[in-house]
Amino acid sequence: MSLHEQPNREMVCRRCKTLYYPLLNSATACRFHPSFFVSRRHDDQQRYYELKPGDPPYAAKFYDCCGAEDPQAPGCSAAFHVSYDDS
Ligand SMILES: [Zn+2]
Ligand SMILES: [Zn+2]
Repeated sequence: MSLHEQPNREMVCRRCKTLYYPLLNSATACRFHPSFFVSRRHDDQQRYYELKPGDPPYAAKFYDCCGAEDPQAPGCSAAFHVSYDDS
C-alpha cells in the first residue's frame, strides 16, 4: 500500500471499476478477465456457443481468457484492486 492512500476512504478500482476500501484490499479482492470478450469460435474447438435459430455462425462470443460465454460472468482471475493513484 502506498503512503498517500487513505485506508478509510473508498477508492475506485482502475481495472474492475468497483468501489473498495484499501483496508480490505487483498490478493483475491479484484475479479476480472485478463483478456477481451471476443466474437469467434473457441480456440479449442470443443466448447461452442449454442447458436440460436437465425444466429450467424460467427455469433460465438466469449472471453478469450477462460471461454466464459456470459459477458457478466465473474472474472476468472483475481488480484489486488488497482487504484488510480498507483502508477
Ligand atoms: Zn476470463
Ligand atoms: Zn478491482
